[in-house]
Amino acid sequence: MVFDSIAEPGHEQVSYFSDPETGLQAIVAIHDTSLGPSLGGTRIRDYESEDAALTDVLRLSEAMTYKAAATDLPLGGGKAVIVGDPAEVKTEDALEAYGRAVDCLGGRYITSVDINSGAEEMDIVARETDHVVGGSDGLGNPSEVTAHGVFHGIRACAEHVYGTDSAGDLDVVVQGLGKVGYLLAEELLEHGASVTISDVNRDAIDEFTAAHDVDVVAPDDIYEQPCDVFAPCAIGGIVNDETIDQLECDIVAGSANNVLAERRHADELAERDILYAPDYVINAGGLITVGKEHLGGTYDEAYAEAEAIGDRLGEMIDRAETDDCTVLDAADAYARERIDASETVTPALPSN
Ligand code: NAD
Repeated sequence: MVFDSIAEPGHEQVSYFSDPETGLQAIVAIHDTSLGPSLGGTRIRDYESEDAALTDVLRLSEAMTYKAAATDLPLGGGKAVIVGDPAEVKTEDALEAYGRAVDCLGGRYITSVDINSGAEEMDIVARETDHVVGGSDGLGNPSEVTAHGVFHGIRACAEHVYGTDSAGDLDVVVQGLGKVGYLLAEELLEHGASVTISDVNRDAIDEFTAAHDVDVVAPDDIYEQPCDVFAPCAIGGIVNDETIDQLECDIVAGSANNVLAERRHADELAERDILYAPDYVINAGGLITVGKEHLGGTYDEAYAEAEAIGDRLGEMIDRAETDDCTVLDAADAYARERIDASETVTPALPSN
């Protein structure tokens, strides 16, 4: 049972840490280090069961492997969860214990921020280990890089669908005006695109419309809004059985993680002639930023490198056409080939 759960997705190592003194309960999953040390955030969450926590960390760490490989980064995939109510488990003592846990993995896993863990928590973790990025002395909030990468991903999709990558010809609907959506909408406007926005938070809408001339659509009406590009930048699971037939766009390309409720929705979008830019390819700006911090480099370099997301996505779209598969399948194949072709740079298991 124990090994079955990690054998099929191909995890190298899953480590459980318990520190009764501080109450720390954490799981670190290292999926694949063929391309480099595994990097992925620490999610702090009150899971309904230990099984749910394990399932989440296994799924997330595997996804990080594909994301790093599809971004041509010399990094592997890993992720960690700290189990418990963030209000109770985020004590300094527990986070220091967690730092020691990460440290004992010897650099095979590098941790970073995720849901309920930010720069403040990483600063505490960093007291005990060097294998951490995303602290207050790091490169900072990656949202600008993420938005820039999505912008170039949208251009690559437009090139394929309309034969021009000029954003000025596009009509884009942006769902969610948070850290990424706001900047994406601004970058699109700067390049002459026509933009329609939507957010459940009225303040976010008011802030944006005070500064920019855009149309606004109600959150529930967004899916049936005719447009060239639907850019989900809010929550996951928004392409689902209910919404898919409402979509009036040619392209779905945004920053949100887990856009598809289920993988089969990639096929169903393709059947409807809607081009879907896989989330883990187009939203890799955040990983590019924390990867840059680990590998050495500046925020400006990360920002510039986010442009290549468009080139890679274009390659995957072409391949999907040649191989008669979805872009998601082509992206997986692109990542898989890089992993398989790599000479392992990190020992699969630590040596003495
Ligand atoms: P955020 O929390 O700053 O913003 C999300 C926005 O979406 C908020 O304004 C919220 O009010 C709005 N929203 C929530 N539900 C909505 C709905 N049903 N309809 C319309 N608007 C809704 O988040 P963010 O950092 O901008 O990230 C957006 C998405 O991109 C998330 O899925 C995130 O996981 C993903 N992502 C972000 C980054 C990054 O660098 N920040 C990197 C990779 C992926």
